[in-house]
Amino acid sequence: MGTGPGDIFLLTEQAQRALAESEYVIGNGTYLDSLEPLLAGKKVLRSAMGREIDRAKKSIELARFHIVSLVSGGDPGIYGMASIVLEILEHQGMDIAFEILPGITAAQAAASRLGSPLSGDFAVISLSDLLTPWSVIESRLDHAFMMGVPVVFYNPRSGGRPQNLSKAFDIARKHLPDNIPVGIVRNAYRANEEVLVTTLREAGDNVERVDMHSTVIIGGGETRIWKRGSNEKAIITPRGYHRKYTY
Ligand code: SAH
Repeated sequence: MGTGPGDIFLLTEQAQRALAESEYVIGNGTYLDSLEPLLAGKKVLRSAMGREIDRAKKSIELARFHIVSLVSGGDPGIYGMASIVLEILEHQGMDIAFEILPGITAAQAAASRLGSPLSGDFAVISLSDLLTPWSVIESRLDHAFMMGVPVVFYNPRSGGRPQNLSKAFDIARKHLPDNIPVGIVRNAYRANEEVLVTTLREAGDNVERVDMHSTVIIGGGETRIWKRGSNEKAIITPRGYHRKYTY
């Protein structure tokens, strides 16, 4: 099940009911912390980042005899735990009842904090080269920016590979003008949330503010920044109504 971005009010009713019915709850510590008020009386198994396969196998083993919730941040099917569970079940030929419960993904959470940057078609690319070779990511970035649609970066910058985000901005600049809006949201819907609206020109100066708790959105060809007063800014990607209606 997906926990959403972190605020317990963004957890679906369906996920809350599933937790209430579960004997075991398994997940990464950060995500379990955000569910704390719902975990009373549950057998909670905390697992570390990078132990995804062990976590999936453990959940499957327990699910033979118990009701288990395997929690994943955001949506479990978007860079989450759903695929590895299904792959293991497929590989082992096991027939265990399961349900994938959706959650609000980081792209939605970040977009809503920034205004409406993803109003039409958009692309999503993870900058993590842990499971995908960097050459493949670069080629996907090139293709995505060539389309001229907004592009969302997940896993934008980690300690182990701090250069990936700057390289991705360089690829964006090959295809897009410098004044294209860029939105950075760190810890969306969590206590220490930070929101920044900037442009591709200045984005490079803000790379240090980006970490693995951040989502970055690069605007598309039609995306603009609406300045509200002296400080507040919102990113708008028009849906296209202006081509048909007057308002
Ligand atoms: N399954 C998750 C994504 C996991 S990949 C989902 O659907 O949201 C992890 C990446 O998600 C992070 O590196 C970051 O880019 C993004 N992310 C997850 N939660 C976030 C949050 N609350 N604020 C900003 N970005 C977030």
